[in-house]
Amino acid sequence: MIEVDAEGVVAFTQALVRIPSTNDPARGRDERPAAELVEAKMREWGWRPVVSEAAPGRPNVVAVVEGGGGDGPTLMFEGHTDVVTEGDLSTWTVDPFGGEIRDGRLWGRGSADMKSGLAATLYATRALQLAGPFPGRIKVCALADEEGLMLGAHHFVAEGLTADVDGAIVAEPEAGEICAVAKGALRLRVDLTGKMAHGAMPQHGRNPIPAVGALLAGLGALQDELQARHPAHEHLGEVYVTPTVLRAGSEEQVNVIPAVASVFVDVRTIPGVEHKVVADRVAALAGYDGIAAEVSILVDRPPVDVPVSDPVVAALAAAHRSVTGEEPVYGGVPGSTDGTVLTHWGGIPSVVYGPGGKWIAHQADEFVEVAEIVRCTRVFAEAARRFLNGDY
Ligand SMILES: [Zn+2]
Repeated sequence: MIEVDAEGVVAFTQALVRIPSTNDPARGRDERPAAELVEAKMREWGWRPVVSEAAPGRPNVVAVVEGGGGDGPTLMFEGHTDVVTEGDLSTWTVDPFGGEIRDGRLWGRGSADMKSGLAATLYATRALQLAGPFPGRIKVCALADEEGLMLGAHHFVAEGLTADVDGAIVAEPEAGEICAVAKGALRLRVDLTGKMAHGAMPQHGRNPIPAVGALLAGLGALQDELQARHPAHEHLGEVYVTPTVLRAGSEEQVNVIPAVASVFVDVRTIPGVEHKVVADRVAALAGYDGIAAEVSILVDRPPVDVPVSDPVVAALAAAHRSVTGEEPVYGGVPGSTDGTVLTHWGGIPSVVYGPGGKWIAHQADEFVEVAEIVRCTRVFAEAARRFLNGDY
């Protein structure tokens, strides 16, 4: 087994957690200090990181570590430097940015999602480098804004940095599951425009609110139809079409028929469901006599469906087996990750695997098992060795 610096990876995770790199530019917080810490560590090891801003103050840090062992593929390790806000402090029993270790767990915002995973990618690459030459190279990437619009990953793709990558491992917390599939997300806004009028004389107006009712009923039927046509995915479950926001009229003016009503819809898809088809169906459902409907696509992140036979998945599974002595468990990502962007827009296969529980992310008292950080670092190092040597 490749020897990893167990103390180092844990201490580096603590140092990252102690930086409140919340995705909250409005409060003057961003991921820059965390990115700088990653950059400094890379330089300490003699790597040559390239820093590129996805947006002002929102840097991506990317280092390419050549194996020096001849021709070979390029593996990408990906982590994000931002974390979600700590939220209501009274719900925490530990300092969210303390990086405290207690009961074998490292506590704090980002401990699982995903500063431990990010640290593991760095230390795994370093471990492989110190173990001797290897074919090909590893691109170690700490990207910005995963928790927001995924600006970092989109910027990375726009810069052409996926062009030479053969496979990516995304270090999100998945409780040790190998996740080569991820659910898609499609968020729509439907604006229904009629004609404003006095409530006493509705015949002079055109009320968009009955159109909302018809649309809501239609969305329920559309979900039933999609679920019938696309049976539940073994790792991702069902397709969901969920209206989440309604807007029309005002409480202060109950005697006014509003001109506009808006419905926001959060659609969660599985492989096989075409987002364009769903958006067109919603537009058709919004049609109502005398009302103009306009559908805007707010977010469009397609589902990810990488076959488990893909080299990057196979190498990771083989590494998991040899390091842990356990059979790999395959799972799915319930939301989307930077892997969605890398695979869909960057055209590279990605797989998600990392330390920390699937459901602990974004909660109060977030933690990661210390032993899991070290174990995952070993799996990453072994996965890289196997992927680059074609040994899977
Ligand atoms: Zn994450």
